[in-house]
Amino acid sequence: MSGEWVAAWLRASAGAVAAEADWFTSLDAAIGDGDHGINLARGFGRVLDVLDGPGVADLDAGDLLVAAGRAIMGSVGGASGALYGRALLRAGAAVSRQAGTDAPPGDPPASDGPLTAVTLAMDAAVDAIATLGRSAPGDKTMLDALVPAARAAHDGLDAGDPLDRALSRMAEAAQAGLESTRPLVARRGRASYLGERSAGHLDPGAASAALLIRVLSETARAG
Ligand code: ADP
Ligand code: MG
Repeated sequence: MSGEWVAAWLRASAGAVAAEADWFTSLDAAIGDGDHGINLARGFGRVLDVLDGPGVADLDAGDLLVAAGRAIMGSVGGASGALYGRALLRAGAAVSRQAGTDAPPGDPPASDGPLTAVTLAMDAAVDAIATLGRSAPGDKTMLDALVPAARAAHDGLDAGDPLDRALSRMAEAAQAGLESTRPLVARRGRASYLGERSAGHLDPGAASAALLIRVLSETARAG
């Protein structure tokens, strides 16, 4: 996975989050406290500051993910800041571990490719959120978009799919995961305070997660 791709994904994500901030906020106003768009716009604004700051050219893919995670953690007060921040930190560590594995001489094995890095990063992000949030798919959270996307990444890897096809499947899976949150009763986060009344609404964090995966697939050419 190239640093260029991660930087392109983060920049495009910042733009997409800014464009959809009002939608995220209105989703959160229905079942939370109406700040999800504001939170993410602030966090990704800080990510842009980092990308425009000194020394970024020296950072590889793993380092960039870690730097983005720190920026979001340090600037977003809401639950999503801690969760996305930790997810990016752990994803960056996973990508760095993969990059540090010595490849044997000759053709790089399939396990060195960007889809492997994406899959490892998704697994690390899901694990970080599930652990920190004590949450699981079906709880009506961002995991309902991210876990199906991670599963699609594994499926693409197992099938030997090209990167762009696997990423499109991931984006479709995340979108379907977002839609699956509508009938759910929230079991984690502020929406859980509403009990049964949380049903009938999309989860704001699943909406932002599906957007981030869609942007990842749209920036795949830089893989
Ligand atoms: P806050 O809830 O603190 O106002 P945000 O509004 O920014 O934070 O984010 C809310 C989103 O965070 C939810 O829609 C949900 O997807 C996600 N979330 C909240 N708590 C958890 C949790 N324990 N595990 C996973 N995701 C969670
Ligand atoms: Mg909120």
